[in-house]
Amino acid sequence: MTTVPSMAPSMAPSMAPSMAPSMAPSMAPSMVPQPYQVTARHEECPDTVTLALVPLREQIPTPRPGQFSMVYAFGVGEVPISVSGRVGTTGLLHTLRAVGAVTRALHAARPGDVLGLRGPFGTGWAVPAPERADLVIVAGGIGLAPLRPVIYHALGERGRYRSVTVLIGARSPADLLFTGEYARWTAGGIDVRVTVDRAHSGWTGHVGLVTTLFTGVVTDPGRTVAFTCGPEVMMRLSARDLADRGVPPTAIQLSLERNMRCGIALCGHCQLGPVLVCRDGPVIDYDRGEPLLSVREL
Ligand SMILES: Cc1cc2nc3c(=O)[nH]c(=O)nc-3n(C[C@H](O)[C@H](O)[C@H](O)COP(=O)(O)OP(=O)(O)OC[C@H]3O[C@@H](n4cnc5c(N)ncnc54)[C@H](O)[C@@H]3O)c2cc1C
Repeated sequence: MTTVPSMAPSMAPSMAPSMAPSMAPSMAPSMVPQPYQVTARHEECPDTVTLALVPLREQIPTPRPGQFSMVYAFGVGEVPISVSGRVGTTGLLHTLRAVGAVTRALHAARPGDVLGLRGPFGTGWAVPAPERADLVIVAGGIGLAPLRPVIYHALGERGRYRSVTVLIGARSPADLLFTGEYARWTAGGIDVRVTVDRAHSGWTGHVGLVTTLFTGVVTDPGRTVAFTCGPEVMMRLSARDLADRGVPPTAIQLSLERNMRCGIALCGHCQLGPVLVCRDGPVIDYDRGEPLLSVREL
């Protein structure tokens, strides 16, 4: 197992959207995957790895926090995976859970292997948020991966915000992601709270759904900006709870997940009512997302 050195704090601000070049037409995301080499592989937990990917030829445009790549395991298939961080000036981190044929092939990739990358695609998280806002970041399971760039942004611009709270839920302690970073996030002025659905005998932390961590988090609903990503039921409950506490639905962002193929709004595979998730999402606000969250995937 190789440790991914790229998770160093110095890399964090590079995900700030202010540093992302605007996407000129000549840089429009291509249908042709660019070859990226795996330079490091870090096992987060038994079924989840973070891969550091560095371009061998052309670099895809710099992603904004919340955007995703189409990652191609040659000869197996291509799937959408969110960007979970950056490596140096040109590389990307992708954190993925092995659930099926393609993600299993990506999970098996080792340093030196070459994968294909297209992107970046989709909408991003609305950062920077207004000055003096209270940021509330709610993650369930693998949902922490697309939110990590928001956390890096908040660490890099901590003085901009009145408070930053990260609420993390996982099935069990073994399923928690990026545990080696929580101390640094806390030292950087972020209130990090963790809970698990099921504990083991040595666990001294909180047990329960992530919404049980909400107590005292929303002190001024009008200045709260929330970001949530995880299983749809968790996002539904979290967004509803935040809205019940007075946070405006337009200030609650969530990341939709649907099977997709082209990534560029051509094939219609990810259509969800009036929304093409690859183009209009994955990040949308609760005002728009609330009716969609109740639609089961076909
Ligand atoms: C915008 C976006 C960003 C994503 N980011 C990440 C990420 O950062 N890390 C990560 O591990 N995964 C992420 N995913 C999910 C990932 O794309 C799927 O796990 C992958 O497509 C599964 O493909 P497969 O061939 O391995 O499995 P399949 O054989 O296609 O599926 C295996 C199981 O997963 C379910 N499944 C497949 N795709 C999806 C999906 N899109 N949504 C919900 N259930 C699905 C299937 O119903 C099946 O039960 C993201 C998905 C989207 C749409």
